[in-house]
Amino acid sequence: MVNADTTTAARSEELLAEAKRVIPGGVNSPVRAFRSVGGTPRFIAKASGPWLEDVDGNRYADLMCSWGPMILGHAHPAVLEAVTTAASEGFSFGTPTEREVRLAEEIVARVEPVEAVRLVNSGTEATMSAVRVARGFTGRSVIVKFAGCYHGHVDALLAAAGSGVATFALPDSPGVPPSSAAETIVLPFNDLAAVEEAFAARGQEIAAVITEASPGNMGVVPPAPGFTEGLRRITAEHGALLISDEVMTGFRCSAAGWYGLEGKPVSGAPDIFTFGKVMGGGFPTAAFGGRRDVMDMLAPDGPVYQAGTLSGNPVASAAGLATLQQCTPEVYDRLLAVAETLQAAVTEAFTKYGIPHRIQTAGSMFSVFFAEHEVTNFEEAKAQDSALYGRFFHAMLQRGVHLPPSCFESWFVSASHDDEVVAHIVAAIHGAASDITQVELAGSRP
Ligand SMILES: *Cc1c(COP(=O)(O)O)cnc(C)c1O
Repeated sequence: MVNADTTTAARSEELLAEAKRVIPGGVNSPVRAFRSVGGTPRFIAKASGPWLEDVDGNRYADLMCSWGPMILGHAHPAVLEAVTTAASEGFSFGTPTEREVRLAEEIVARVEPVEAVRLVNSGTEATMSAVRVARGFTGRSVIVKFAGCYHGHVDALLAAAGSGVATFALPDSPGVPPSSAAETIVLPFNDLAAVEEAFAARGQEIAAVITEASPGNMGVVPPAPGFTEGLRRITAEHGALLISDEVMTGFRCSAAGWYGLEGKPVSGAPDIFTFGKVMGGGFPTAAFGGRRDVMDMLAPDGPVYQAGTLSGNPVASAAGLATLQQCTPEVYDRLLAVAETLQAAVTEAFTKYGIPHRIQTAGSMFSVFFAEHEVTNFEEAKAQDSALYGRFFHAMLQRGVHLPPSCFESWFVSASHDDEVVAHIVAAIHGAASDITQVELAGSRP
């Protein structure tokens, strides 16, 4: 047994069985099913600040923060008030509203190269639309992406297979037509030579390079110094656009996302940015934006069609705007301080118990790789002990801390993570490190 103070998941198990009857796999997004860590996903009943409470009454300190959005913690009073006020005035009109203007202004004010944004309903829609506008602008169709970067479940961007340079990628998922994947070149992250070669071979066909500004979907793997700069230089030389996907990092790594941390490449800013997660404050709103001449391609001013019944939804816009307005310098300082305390606890506990680990950060985003080597790309990210992560995940869950249920994710903190919850998590890290080492020793007996 991992631990004595085992939590019960009886009601979650019942709900999962009921869910499986009407929802494929019982979940509406695959990673929620706990397949890579095993066990029963906890059905969360409610949450407040840094705490989640499940349907069996267990409490967990939250290190997922809804995969990023809940940067202020759950049910933040100012956001709740903004949402309640907006909702009391009606849910959706299918007309322009003032709130979406204010949200767009907030985004444009924060991220300097973004001159105009269009609001959509999910990060997937943002990247899909960014790719379309890039293709429309350049009159070309090929997209370059990097293995291990996730841009939502857009057909052309699901391809992550194939390593060599400028080869045709195979679709990663049945249902993605080979014709769609054939328009996508997948290259290893942090490998500028591979990008040079791809452009040398097919530069005239490439509409855009899309990259996670600082990848968080293979664990946290920041771009090596000069990588973003190189992408900007090579794309500009060949008349292709650079799309910086900041759906995860936007407004999280800093007030201006990863762009705010890394700064503007000498050869110019990315042409298009995509946002989501934090900017919706937990509601389904996202955006893509960038250079004025590129964004002017969109209907109704230009020929590239893009639309949405609920786009710019007033309740979602209110949540996003209130969230961004609360994201002050003090909030970013607090996120960093909490992240650093947790990283120090992992380093101390894992060193003490001899658990292989490598911590990588992007602002307050960080992940703990269960490996010793530096991780600069997807291949290296995959070379870690994911089974050991699964045991650590469950040991933490038993001790009342909910980590992301996959070793290829960032850990997320919120400004509501106060000293009490941080102390709780630190104690759990030490306890869980001890738990899994004991399992190791027990397991190694003949
Ligand atoms: C989450 C994510 C997406 C997809 O956003 P959804 O809202 O889940 O569709 C796209 N790109 C990145 C970098 C993400 O982290």
